[in-house]
Formats: sequence, structure tokens, C-alpha cells
Amino acid sequence: MSAGIRRYAEVAGKDVIDHLYQLAKPLSGSRVVHINSTRVGGGVAEILTKLVPLMGELGIDARWEVISGPDVFYQCTKAFHNGLQGGPVTMTNEMLQAYEDANSAFAEEHRALLEDAEIVIVHDPQPAPLINRIGRRKGKWVWRCHIDVSRPHRPVWKYLRKAVSRYDASIFSLANFAQLLPHPQYLITPSIDPLSEKNIPLSPAEVQAVFSRFNLDPQKPMILQVSRFDRFKDPLGVIRAYRLATRFIPSLQLVLAGGEASDDPEGQAVLDEVRAAAGDDPDIHVLLLPSDAHRIVNGLQRASDLVLQKSIREGFGLTVAEAMWKGKPVIGGNTGGIILQVINHHTGFLVDTPEGAALRIRYLLHNRSRLDEMGLKAKRFVRENFLLTRHLREYLTLMLALTHGDGGRITLT
Ligand code: UDP
Repeated sequence: MSAGIRRYAEVAGKDVIDHLYQLAKPLSGSRVVHINSTRVGGGVAEILTKLVPLMGELGIDARWEVISGPDVFYQCTKAFHNGLQGGPVTMTNEMLQAYEDANSAFAEEHRALLEDAEIVIVHDPQPAPLINRIGRRKGKWVWRCHIDVSRPHRPVWKYLRKAVSRYDASIFSLANFAQLLPHPQYLITPSIDPLSEKNIPLSPAEVQAVFSRFNLDPQKPMILQVSRFDRFKDPLGVIRAYRLATRFIPSLQLVLAGGEASDDPEGQAVLDEVRAAAGDDPDIHVLLLPSDAHRIVNGLQRASDLVLQKSIREGFGLTVAEAMWKGKPVIGGNTGGIILQVINHHTGFLVDTPEGAALRIRYLLHNRSRLDEMGLKAKRFVRENFLLTRHLREYLTLMLALTHGDGGRITLT
């Protein structure tokens, strides 16, 4: 559902929308192509679903294309993902060949578009080598990295860096993700769409409906983590934290809601581990949701008392901002983009271990006024920092800088 950009004035203010039109004017008619590897599942798809139509409304010829390949391509790109986030991985020649071949095939199919576009924004490692296949590119190419590359497994970064170095600029979510690269690096944090089905206000009846739909007990305190089934999200750590917390809050119930991303081949294995760890505990609810279950995720986030995002690596973690927008404090892993959102002791708590998470769960559920106060602060913090309108403004500013040169830029020396 496209809300119409003017509707964002309700949340962000009219001036903000006028400013977006003003910034977009010199870019009118420019062809901007975003490329990633899935249309559904995960934060990048979530953002592009909203950002691309809004760029279109502002007069930009914005497109979104998706690279795909055989299973071995996704095994390779998942290994890149794991390796860039610091895990030791092995990549076979067959995997790398499939990766390069998928990029060659995509480049062949979209050559005219890629050669002529004013700006090409390539998201994450999956389509990164495309730049090597487009010899006569007219526009500026930007590599947008959404993952935590602060401590990459070196051989993996070394391989990817060869392609990334050829871009005109790169964008990271956090300063400490930046790398040694021969081009300007920009910091842009992701955002949530306050008018999307995932984040709009819901009626109390719709929120209540999630309890009966998923056999949850409205009388029991409920904690939630919404995440793809991925080891970096530490779902097993969440189950451990829940178990420790039940020693003090025996009536506690835990919901682990996840879905599939079509570019993630490891999801099933992690889901099996989660189900095994949950065992026959009737108060652990592992929900496998379809990728379009946005209102359900919204309802679950609103229905829970607090939200967990106990990741051990996290590029940003849209789920954190989503929960905070609903007035929920978040107990988040002390890592990556979560640190930007969870201001320790103010909008939630940062934790390093399941034991730490359990202590914070216990504290918040026993101190309801503190929980409510932190939830209010969390919502305000998202309004000020992580809404789509701010994200769009930063993209437009970057696009202007790239296409209109740096003659007017003030540089501090
Ligand atoms: N999400 C969802 N259903 C699920 C799991 C996740 O809709 O079952 C959404 C979630 O609400 C968020 C996005 O997928 O909007 C995940 O983004 P995030 O940045 O938290 O993590 P990523 O998956 O990109 O690592």
C-alpha cells in the first residue's frame, strides 16, 4: 500500500515533506536502480518496498531489480554474509563460480539499464561483482552495505573488496563498519515506515486477536523476538534467557516469530535447532509466519510486554526500531546497529549474555512504571531518528552530491 508521500506529514511534519520535494527536484527524471537479492524477507526488502515507490513519487525514475541464481549461489552469498560478519567460512570454487556466473547473467539481462542509469545502488554482497561486468557505465555506482562488517573474516573481505573498490562510493550503517576503501564512504542508518501495515496503529481488538490466533495466554507476561531463523540473531540465547527468567516469573511466555527469506538457505537448520531447544514447553511459541504477515508482526509487537533482539551481530535491526515505535523497551544484543537504537537504561537494555538478558527481563517485568517510561522514550527516539522520511532525505542528499559534483560542498580540512 503506497501511502502517498504527503501523508507522511502527519508523522514527520509538513516542512519535512516540502524539503524532500525540494531536494528531489534536481533529480527529477533521473534513473536510479536498486539491486538486491530478495523481494521479501529481511530488512533490505522491507526498506526497498517503501523507499522505491516514494522516490518514484518524488519524480525519480526509481527501479528495483533482484539478482537470483541456483541454490549454490545462495549458499555462496550466505557464506559471504556469515564471513563478513566475522564467522570463519569456507567457500569452494564451485560456489564462487556460481556467484560470478549469476552476476554475469544478471548483467547481460539488464545491460542497457545498468549502463544508462544515473545512479545504481547495489545492496550487500550478492550483486557486488556486477560492477566488473559493466564496462561502459554512465552513472555513479554506490555499494550499500547493510551488514556488520566491523570484523570480517579477512579472506572473504579481501575477495569482495576487489569489486567494492571499483564503486564511486559506499554506504554503511555505522561508523565502525567503515573499511579501507579508495572512495567516499557515507553513513546512513536504515528506517521504518510509520504508515506501513507493520507499523500503523492497530485497534485493541486486532492486538488482542493475536492471543487467540496463536494460542497465547493474554493473562501471562509475554516476551517476543521477531527474526529470521539465523544464528546471528541468537534464538537459542533467547530461549536460554527465557528459561532463566522463568525462575523468577514462572508464568512467562516467549514468542519467537520468524519467517523465511528466499535468499537464506540456512533457515531450516536453525529452525530445527530452535524447535529442539524449545522442546515441549507449552509457553514457548515458535511461529513460522508468511512473508506478508506484516499486521500480525505488528500485533505481536504491540501485544508483548517487551521485545528482545539478542543478536550477536546486527547490521541495524529494523525489528528494534519497529518494537520501539510501538512503545516497547528492547533488550538487545550489545552489537552493531542495535547500539544506535537501544540507549542503555533509557530506551532499553544492551546485553552480552542470556544471563544478562534474563536479569533485564526480570527487572522490567517487576518494574512496570520503569518499563512504560522506557517505552515512551523508545518511541520518541524512533520518531526523531529512524523514520523513513529522514532516510529518504539522506539518500536524496547523497544522490545530489554524486550527480552534481562537489563544487558546492564545504569540506573541513
Ligand atoms: N520480519 C517479518 N517476519 C518475520 C521475520 C522478520 O516481517 O517472520 C521482518 C521484520 O519485521 C523486519 C525485517 O523482517 O522488518 C527484518 O529486518 P532486520 O533488519 O531486523 O533483520 P534482517 O533480517 O535484515 O537481518
